[in-house]
Amino acid sequence: MRACLAAVLVAIFAGVMWMDGRAQTAGPLVSGAHRFEKVAEGIYYATASGTMNVGANSPIVINDDEALVIDSEITPAAARALVADLKAITNKPVRYVVDSHYHYDHAFGNQIFGPDVQVIGHVNTRKRMLTNVMEQYTYLSSVQPVPARVDALRKRIAEEKDPQQKAALERQVANSLAYLEQVKEVKVTPPSLTFHPMMTLTRGPREIQLLYLGRGHTDTDVVVFLPKERIVCTGDLMESVISYAGDAYMEEWIATLDKLRALDFDTVMPGHGVVFKGKGKIEAFQKYLRDVLAQVTALRKQGLSADDAAQKVDMTAYRSEFVSIRGIGIDPAAVRRIYQLADHPEPAH
Ligand SMILES: [Zn+2]
Repeated sequence: MRACLAAVLVAIFAGVMWMDGRAQTAGPLVSGAHRFEKVAEGIYYATASGTMNVGANSPIVINDDEALVIDSEITPAAARALVADLKAITNKPVRYVVDSHYHYDHAFGNQIFGPDVQVIGHVNTRKRMLTNVMEQYTYLSSVQPVPARVDALRKRIAEEKDPQQKAALERQVANSLAYLEQVKEVKVTPPSLTFHPMMTLTRGPREIQLLYLGRGHTDTDVVVFLPKERIVCTGDLMESVISYAGDAYMEEWIATLDKLRALDFDTVMPGHGVVFKGKGKIEAFQKYLRDVLAQVTALRKQGLSADDAAQKVDMTAYRSEFVSIRGIGIDPAAVRRIYQLADHPEPAH
């Protein structure tokens, strides 16, 4: 009995401490599999708390009567977790989901939303999701390497002395193995409401513009622009890290980013990485893309295979802006894609 009372007191005390801590630091709120960072009034940025593979980061827009979620995340399990975890920041129901593009880590949670939720995407997102996306390289590259990665992690766990590091590695193993189970539930579900090239949702005082600015990271990228709040949610068209380019249209991407920069915003909420301010990073990424194209085109002319060229491309000059660049060489999928489009151009229509 006494132990029980003590436990209750500890819990209450911890709760008070926690609330105090939050009031003072206003740091992100952790709820289940997600961490919610408040970006503006009613606007949050959901990222992984580390207990589950959730895939993309999801911007959340809370309106007068409902919440709008950008990206349903990587699996039905992640999407269900997001809906449950959202209760920590709002009691309003999710009524809109916007797919920033068709990639699995952004849109494979779509299926959990019932008929009272409108899932919106670009017309091309629907088209792409009606093809065999689960047999395509981009998705397969998220599942096929997992067993080897788990083996490598287990070797590191066996050698790791630091208990905290060990626990972090063990969590990675658990999340990776759980992901392989969670994907079994996926039934690819395209958006039911599509548009081109733009649509506007007016919800109370809030204006939410959904814009297709052209081909870039894919041919499905939607940008969510909140003109009053001067915020833009960019999916993988623009990240704070280097975006995957295995399905990209690199040359057009540079021009599409010009259109993005022409919008009047000061805060960017990207599909991966962290929220950032201003347009400097976008300009830097355009330079990066131009440089990748130039180097790959030259290596292709020399007769190198895409995979050999990928090891030679040197983007270390961009390290200060994109810390994920670790050394010489880039993702072979990006180079294979440039070769593919050079051999088989896909004219825009
Ligand atoms: Zn993507």
